Amino acid sequence: MRTRLPDTLAGEARDVAETALRACVHCGMCNATCPTYQLTGEELMGPRGRIYLMKQALEGEPVTDLTREALDGCLGCRACETTCPSGVQYHRLFEVGQAAVLEAAPRPTIGRLQRAAIRALALSPAFGALSGLGRALRPLLPSALRDKVPPAPGPAGRPPVRHARRIVLLTGCVQSGAAAHFNAAAARILDRFGISLVEARQAGCCGAVPGHLDARDAAQTLARRNLDAWAPLLEDGAEAVLATSSGCGTYLHDYPDLLRDDPAYRERARRLAALVR
Ligand code: SF4
Ligand code: SF4
Repeated sequence: MRTRLPDTLAGEARDVAETALRACVHCGMCNATCPTYQLTGEELMGPRGRIYLMKQALEGEPVTDLTREALDGCLGCRACETTCPSGVQYHRLFEVGQAAVLEAAPRPTIGRLQRAAIRALALSPAFGALSGLGRALRPLLPSALRDKVPPAPGPAGRPPVRHARRIVLLTGCVQSGAAAHFNAAAARILDRFGISLVEARQAGCCGAVPGHLDARDAAQTLARRNLDAWAPLLEDGAEAVLATSSGCGTYLHDYPDLLRDDPAYRERARRLAALVR
């Protein structure tokens, strides 16, 4: 696409925006793998529409609440990048484009408070207990809420750590509370193959929750914490880092981008990303 970016957009942000927007040929193949487009069938809820909205915002065209909401609907899953024939780095454009949109159409106070509350709750140990409470009360809830409460989990039994081959497990945040049986099932399967899953007590959320909710600084802090926590296990011979939630896995792969301006961590982030499964 042709771009008309203003001179006020400079440096790395300009390079990222220009590269992505020029590479996009607006073919729409990305819509085929975008879950939000598949669910809604709406152009503005797919990557091609969002790219167009970001282009408008970056070029100084009017931005509305609708623009912000269309970007808020993006899951950050990067499925669109897997089908793009032009190699558009949607996630890099999104970083720059969302910042431009939020500057032109700031989030209302209530929206900021909601996001802060979700960040705090998702990262809190209380989330697991509240998930259990929600499941217990599920039959009494109105149907709109009931559908959002995850069903009762399967067995959560984990085999002991007993094999020489080891893989570090991302404990995570929301999944541990809402669906702990995923990690337990992964541990049982890998145990059959002679691999034990190990965890670092200090590790936690991969950073995706704050990263997707307007708090990139907090995401960077969590990424550094995980890198520090996993380092001894990896030095001790653990072969990889496993995420059983696809969104978290994607975010771990993004650590080199997330920490690219941090000389103390960017090389470690690059090495870690190569080990993520
Ligand atoms: S598939 Fe790639 S080139 Fe085509 S519209 Fe989507 S981002 Fe643009
Ligand atoms: S990152 Fe995921 S949700 Fe967002 S536009 Fe791409 S495919 Fe759709």
